[in-house]
Amino acid sequence: MLIHSPRYNTPLHEFGINKPFALDRGTRVQQKLAAEFGDRITTIEPNPITVSDALLVHTAEYLQTLRNPTTWREIFELNEAEYDPTSASRPLNELFDDIAFKSGGTMLAVELALRKGLAANLGGGYHHAFPSEGRGFCVLHDIAIAIRSAQKRDLCRRCLVVDVDFHQGDGTALIFRDDDSVFTLSIHSAEGWPEVKQHSDLDIEILSSETASYIERLEDGLKTALKRFSPDLVMFVAGSDAYELDVLPGSAYLKLSLAQMKKRDELVLDTFARLGVPLAMVYAGGYGPDVWEVHYFATRRLVELAL
Ligand SMILES: [Zn+2]
Repeated sequence: MLIHSPRYNTPLHEFGINKPFALDRGTRVQQKLAAEFGDRITTIEPNPITVSDALLVHTAEYLQTLRNPTTWREIFELNEAEYDPTSASRPLNELFDDIAFKSGGTMLAVELALRKGLAANLGGGYHHAFPSEGRGFCVLHDIAIAIRSAQKRDLCRRCLVVDVDFHQGDGTALIFRDDDSVFTLSIHSAEGWPEVKQHSDLDIEILSSETASYIERLEDGLKTALKRFSPDLVMFVAGSDAYELDVLPGSAYLKLSLAQMKKRDELVLDTFARLGVPLAMVYAGGYGPDVWEVHYFATRRLVELAL
């Protein structure tokens, strides 16, 4: 039910990147849960997605541009202090295999959720990628690729995306704007990036002054979504960057406590477990040394519900 590989902990220094992507969070969560639950949990390694999978969402022209290291520098917003090509032993475009591998994890999470009820990719969740453009640290829209692939193989028809990352799931909103088979719900910071937001089927914008009502607003949003749409799969985009210890400067508008983050994730997981709707979780945003704990509690809850 858990999808992870030691390869998720990408050696960014080999690419000359110095940025607080919390790429070790999957490993930390997996190790802690393995110690607690032993062989009652199963961890599976994914296979990478193929270029034809990526073409379910992205244009061929865009995928071509990923051969160029400059494109990667732009997507990851690497400034001079964060990128030193002289210390790199590999070019940035070699990160494609890494992203394709973790995107394969999201595809596997969807397959396993549809078969077993609950699954988590301990990474992935690149919800800002547009069909013709990578943005906001997101190269391939693994969530949309996994949904389209599952629909194409008749594994599922109607998917609800519940995105609780600090940032709006704008790529998801754009990709599925005219697609009635996918309902997009995004609860996010009103003040945070992106400045120009897309239209999800349901957007819940939280001002920095409104964090006390976050859980209530999410609860209302889930009820509204379920009145308007009956899913046979839920994609839970469980970004941890609304956590008060997240270090991304741009995510400072929302500072939810660990207790609030736990409550948030339990609310989503428990709601769909109670309804018996299959759910696949991905990690999405989360920056710095402390955010792994948020993912730990969310993944632990998913494991408890699955056992
Ligand atoms: Zn985010």
